[in-house]
This record gives sequence, C-alpha cells and structure tokens, in this order.
Amino acid sequence: MNIIFLGPPGAGKGTQSKLLEDQYGLVQISTGDMLRAEVARGSAIGQEAKSLMDAGKLVSDALIIAMLKGRIGQDDCQNGFILDGFPRTLAQAEALDEMLKADGKSIDVVLFLDVDEDILADRISGRFTCANCGRTYNEVSNPPRVAGKCDACGSHEFTRRADDKRETVVERLKEYRKLTAPILPFYEKTGRLHSINGMLPTAEVTAEIKAALGEIPKITQK
Ligand code: AMP
Repeated sequence: MNIIFLGPPGAGKGTQSKLLEDQYGLVQISTGDMLRAEVARGSAIGQEAKSLMDAGKLVSDALIIAMLKGRIGQDDCQNGFILDGFPRTLAQAEALDEMLKADGKSIDVVLFLDVDEDILADRISGRFTCANCGRTYNEVSNPPRVAGKCDACGSHEFTRRADDKRETVVERLKEYRKLTAPILPFYEKTGRLHSINGMLPTAEVTAEIKAALGEIPKITQK
C-alpha cells in the first residue's frame, strides 16, 4: 500500500504518518527530514537546499524528484510507503506517477489533512521534538506527560525547527497555497483523494484515517 499525506505545514502529516508507519508496517518518507539530514551533513544537496528552506521556499523539483526516486527504490519501500511532504507541486505529482508506473506500482490513496489556516501558525510555533528519539510534541495540544521530559525515552533535550519561526511559517503557507494546494484536483479526478478533518484531536484524526483506508478495496492491511 502506497499512501500520500497532503496538507499545509502543521496539519499533522508527520504525526499521523509516524502512527501509521508503526501500525501498518509501512515506511514513512519525509522529504523535509531527508533534506534536514543533508543540511546537517553539509552535503552538496544540503548546501543547495538550506537557504531555500530557511526562507520557507520550496527546493527545486529536479532536486527533490531525484532524491525521492532514489529513496523509494530502496528495499525497505517495496512493501509500501507513506509520503509525508511529497509531492508539493503538480510537476512532482506527475513525476511520481510516472516513476511508479515504470515499476508497475501506483499510489493507492491520498489523505488530505484539512485544517483552517488561521490555527496553523500557532500550531507550528508551539511544536518541538525530542533531540534523542525524535518524538514530536506541542506546547498546547500535545505536551510531554512530565514537563521537560520525553515520554518515549526520558531525554530532557528538545529541539525546534529553524523554519518554524512565525515569519518563515508565513512564507511556507504562501508556497503551500500557490504551489501545493493546486495538486488536490489532480488526485481528486482519479478518485484517490480522501479529505480528513485535521482539526480534531490526534486520536480522532487517526480513527478517520483508518476508516478511510478501510474503504479502499485493493488495500491489504498488515
Ligand atoms: P517539511 O519538513 O515537509 O515541512 O519540509 C521542510 C522544507 O523542506 C520545506 O519548507 C521545503 O523548503 C523543503 N521541502 C520538503 N519537501 C519538499 C518538496 N517535496 N518539494 C520542495 N521542497 C521541499
């Protein structure tokens, strides 16, 4: 089963795809995480991407399509994957269909996490991540059970993304409206798009997603 999560920054794509990864035995592929790893390594890709990411702009289609193609060709993706943050332009969506078709594969379902834009900036500026295990939190909606201590691994160190600053979030939302939202009709017209109310509490969003996945007849759940 191959799944795409679509939605604006802060809609919950990362949180929900991590939950599905565990429960369905699929591999989560976050192009944002891959780019951040390239930046941390100081690679050529990282150097090309960094200033655009810091400014809240999308990196080039050519760079991201090549990176994604390499990733989904790896062995661990052969049973299925969840794309979180890709595609973000129509050109990426078309390239993805082409590369999968060449392998006799396809996208089974596209889950659109629908969230009112006016709550996104608050959601994003409140989020932080355990520096040790990567568990994600939010100051308001999803704090650790014990303040300052990760629920999963007990670490006391947390990080925030550089591009989660309010001024960068404004740019990221502009890019989303201009380049990513126009992809929705592309998937709608092939009957693959499922809209999910991303304003609900995390567990209820997960339940809606599972209900949507249950409606897809060709999916074999693990
Ligand atoms: P994310 O973690 O998905 O919010 O992505 C963080 C940043 O990485 C974005 O603001 C873009 O600069 C870049 N990025 C991630 N995925 C893509 C993509 N599919 N196309 C273009 N840029 C991307």
